[in-house]
Amino acid sequence: MTILCVVAHPDDETIGCGGTLAAFAKMGHAVYVGALADGETSRDDATFRDVLDRWRRWELALRRLGARPLYPHEAWPDQRLETIPRLRVTKQIARWLAQVDPHIVLTHSPHDPNLDHRMVWEAAEPALLRCPTKVYRFGVRRMRSTFRPVPVPLPMPDMVTRHLALSEYGAECEGDLNSLEQFEKVKT
Ligand SMILES: [Zn+2]
Repeated sequence: MTILCVVAHPDDETIGCGGTLAAFAKMGHAVYVGALADGETSRDDATFRDVLDRWRRWELALRRLGARPLYPHEAWPDQRLETIPRLRVTKQIARWLAQVDPHIVLTHSPHDPNLDHRMVWEAAEPALLRCPTKVYRFGVRRMRSTFRPVPVPLPMPDMVTRHLALSEYGAECEGDLNSLEQFEKVKT
């Protein structure tokens, strides 16, 4: 099978569902992660070097998980995805769907307090409606009470590999070590 994880920022995949992605990879499935925004430029003091460093850490984390990176055609600025016409983001996600033809897609939830994360779902939904893939939405950090995770038929998360991948992002992600991987089922 082929698994595609679509996220806003390079680290969301590891925090939100890294153990599940690692478990899929260990079972021999092809796992891809596409990230849309740079994850750094919302900080006033962020430099070009910080942006490059974040993408580099992302690649190292994905290598730990056994996943392959899909870069966006244009990397959008952090925490400003709502300023990009939604159709452009939808088209980017549609390109990834056409490129890897996934059986399962994992992505953000509309019940996420982070606006970029919600924008990813808004942009992904029209692209996903047109393809026969199964879709699960995951939580990242603290979710709104409207996020209602359910048991889903996904492999048991490999939390050890997830810890190793999280360590590539440094101290920033230490608080995420014990968060659980939780999913909403959207379409099967
Ligand atoms: Zn994020």
